[in-house]
Amino acid sequence: MDEEIKQQIRFVIEDDNELMSAALNGDLDQKNKQMNRELITKHEAIIAKVEKGKWPTPAELQLIRDANEIHLNDEDNLNGRHTQAVKLNDWLDQMTEFSKNKAMKILEQYLDKDPHTPVQVYRALHTLWEEATPNGMAEKPLFDDKGKCLKCGSNVSFADVTDTLVFVGDEIVKRYDGDIANRNCVKCTYPNQYPEYEHYDDTGV
Ligand SMILES: [Zn+2]
Repeated sequence: MDEEIKQQIRFVIEDDNELMSAALNGDLDQKNKQMNRELITKHEAIIAKVEKGKWPTPAELQLIRDANEIHLNDEDNLNGRHTQAVKLNDWLDQMTEFSKNKAMKILEQYLDKDPHTPVQVYRALHTLWEEATPNGMAEKPLFDDKGKCLKCGSNVSFADVTDTLVFVGDEIVKRYDGDIANRNCVKCTYPNQYPEYEHYDDTGV
């Protein structure tokens, strides 16, 4: 672990512990005093761990993030640790593992900031998302209960339907109708093909 990062972790944790210890002598109620004591103990464990060069757990990384926040927001640099706080925050961002949902959300929020983000970029993102999702289905619904795309409001979608056919030799002897396996908004997912279907959205039929 980088020496500067280590130092900043120690600094923010000790700073927070000092504040909480001081509060223990004040007029906090018993419940809050107990919470402070528990947090101080957890904080001390983090420092001991970092001193030994061991990695904090995800829960401990969150506690470090919480303790660092006040210094991160200290843009006037009143205690002279703002630069270090920004560096620690960047480090925490790198250390924190994202769930697929979280990763997707971060990227989408970032892309949404630029009104010129081409539809293709969203498509690329969704393609990667589907690769990363083993059953090929996004967890959140993509359409409302009337089949309208939740992202763009278009009513037109392509769906794959997988039927199961029973062959005997070359001959199909039975057909089981399949379920919809994959449904994509045409406007969002296949923008090049959308003009062909656009009139359905205009007429509402
Ligand atoms: Zn759409």
